[in-house]
This record gives sequence, C-alpha cells and structure tokens, in this order.
Amino acid sequence: LSKRIVAYIGLGSNLDHPATQISSALQALVKLPESTLINHSHLYQSRPMGPQDQPDYINSVAHIETALSAEQLLDQLQAIEQQQGRVRKGAQWGARTLDLDLLLYGDSQIATERLTVPHPGLHQRAFVLYPLQEVAASLEIVGLGPLEQLLSTCPRDGLMCLDEAE
Ligand code: ATP
Ligand code: MG
Ligand code: MG
Repeated sequence: LSKRIVAYIGLGSNLDHPATQISSALQALVKLPESTLINHSHLYQSRPMGPQDQPDYINSVAHIETALSAEQLLDQLQAIEQQQGRVRKGAQWGARTLDLDLLLYGDSQIATERLTVPHPGLHQRAFVLYPLQEVAASLEIVGLGPLEQLLSTCPRDGLMCLDEAE
C-alpha cells in the first residue's frame, strides 16, 4: 500500500460562471484516483493578477490525501482544467475557466520543468494564503516557514470571503 501524502490545491476561475466552475472542479477532485478530498475552503473573490482588463476571480483551496505522485497529480489537475474548457493562450495570468495549481505536496520541494513545489506564488498571494488557512490552520510550509507568519505580511488585497455563513 503506497503512502498517502497530504496535498493542497489552489483553484481559480474568472470565466463562464466562475463559482460553478469551482464547484465542478471540487466535484472532480472528489473523484481523483487513489485520493481523498478531505475538505475545502469557502469561495473567495479576488482581483486579477497581471492584466487588469479581465473579470475578478473566484478562488478556493482544497486539502486532499493522495497516493499519486506529484507528477501524476499534476496530470490529473491538467486533465480537469481541460475538461472544464481551459484554453491556453495570450498573456500570462490571462482569463481562464479553471486554474488548478499544486500548492504543496507533503514536505516535498520539487524543481523540474513541469513542476515547482511549493508553488512559487504561494507566499505572496492573498487568494492562496487566506483560504489555505481555513483548511490548514497551523501549517509549517517547507522552505517558507509558518503559514501564520506568511499571512502576517500578506495584505488581503481586496480578497472577500463569499459564503462565510454556509
Ligand atoms: P501561476 O503558476 O503563476 O499561478 P498559472 O497558474 O496561470 O500561473 P498555468 O498556465 O496554469 O500558470 O501553468 C503553466 C505551467 O506551470 C504548467 O504547464 C505547469 O507545468 C507549470 N507548473 C509548475 N509548477 C506548478 C504547480 N505547482 N502547479 C501547477 N502547475 C505548475
Ligand atoms: Mg495559477
Ligand atoms: Mg496554473
């Protein structure tokens, strides 16, 4: 029986009914092979990074346990992006129906052509750190330190939690 690794996935969408895209992606994460979706954060609304002439994003973070390798997990995440109509074109950080980023894979530090883990933007992105705190309160992030410390130097940047009452 292969060892199960705790992994965190960042979800984002700003096209074609973003909240529905995120819900569908969470359903797809439930069906990941050799994996269990443990929980996910509320949905958040954030201003776009990069090009500003695009809609606001809806974001969430999911906590899973998986026996997949990091590369196998990335394959699965990219397949879900494709299923939900992700088109890769235009500027970096342009609008998209779905972005699934592997934020953390256990305590692994990965630097290959396909994969950088921890995800390179993680420590400075409010739309990652605040939802991550919901699903992993006292997390120690390999190479970066305590999540709480990263949060203390990361302004919310207009980030809004959408469904706190749920
Ligand atoms: P950012 O990664 O800054 O959030 P993005 O999510 O818009 O930007 P994408 O177009 O989704 O970037 O992905 C570009 C490439 O990033 C992918 O082809 C993938 O191989 C690579 N990549 C490297 N590290 C990761 C990771 N931790 N999670 C997801 N993709 C990654
Ligand atoms: Mg991304
Ligand atoms: Mg991505």
